[in-house]
Amino acid sequence: MVDPSTERTTAQPAATSSKVVLKATDLTKSYRVPGGYVRAVRGISVELKSGRTLAIVGESGCGKSTLARLLVGLELPDSGITTKSSLIPMVFQDSLGSLHPRRRVRQLIVEPILIRDRLIRMTPEIETLAADLARRVGLPIEYLDSFAHELSGGQRQRVNIARALSLDPSVILLDEPVSALDVSIQAQILNLLVDLQNQKSLAIVFISHDLSVVRHLAHDVQVLYLGQVVEEGPVEKVLREPLHPYTAALLASDPALPAGPTASVGEPPSPYEVLPGCAYAKRCSFAESICSQNIPKLEKITNQKTPSLTQADAESRAVACFVVQRSQREGHENAIAPG
Ligand code: SF4
Repeated sequence: MVDPSTERTTAQPAATSSKVVLKATDLTKSYRVPGGYVRAVRGISVELKSGRTLAIVGESGCGKSTLARLLVGLELPDSGITTKSSLIPMVFQDSLGSLHPRRRVRQLIVEPILIRDRLIRMTPEIETLAADLARRVGLPIEYLDSFAHELSGGQRQRVNIARALSLDPSVILLDEPVSALDVSIQAQILNLLVDLQNQKSLAIVFISHDLSVVRHLAHDVQVLYLGQVVEEGPVEKVLREPLHPYTAALLASDPALPAGPTASVGEPPSPYEVLPGCAYAKRCSFAESICSQNIPKLEKITNQKTPSLTQADAESRAVACFVVQRSQREGHENAIAPG
């Protein structure tokens, strides 16, 4: 959770003409387990433009990290297509475990270049690049001769971000990059990401369970539940006025944000369980009979009568919930708003 008293830079508006740098369509991924399969990702599509940050949020086990590995190519999907304008480097939560313990920071930062160019030694040009990247991520150059274990968690995460930038990608993906850091260091790393994005229109995929972090950093958000997107749209709209009951429950359970209108009932169902209808039905206080029979599809919200939605915002929002879709079709306001 980010300290709200810490001065922070927030995501800047991205140009509307930005180009699409990552597009994934209908990704699925299952894993074989004793007695059957776990469907970790079920038909997720992602589109990200340059200069924008897409946050992917949800409870532990919702499929966020599997989706991250599919997007960067660490795993292959069972079905679906991903197109990207460059390699997508990934920054992990474990800042120490992702760095070689016997290499110095100067080597760690440019290791992706050494591997790509099959170099066994640093050239003077690559030495200069390592120093430039260290400066870019705010790491004092006296640390270039250090080993990872001699750095703090925040400094190590700066090294990981510098590594990610070394091949000059158009997109980077960060999986819970600040969860293990102190609150004040979290803010510094998030500010760094916003600055880096503004310098080069970097696109960012940001996986997190921390909605207060997401609210500051991201432009858009996808909310995952049991491997499916249940709601997506601009962060400000989705987190201020959630449409899906699960999004509202996530907000209600976040101590750093104002209480939401509803809460989930009970524990999430086992991912081993095959549910006939809406995956959220057992925990949803708005469930109707249709919810346990059919699976709601993610549909755009097109009703323009909802007063708080501009046309552009409405067109970029989508939700997978029968009750919300019906109320929007009928021109009612938010079906799950407190009454
Ligand atoms: S489809 Fe039904 S069970 Fe699922 S979130 Fe909507 S109201 Fe709840």
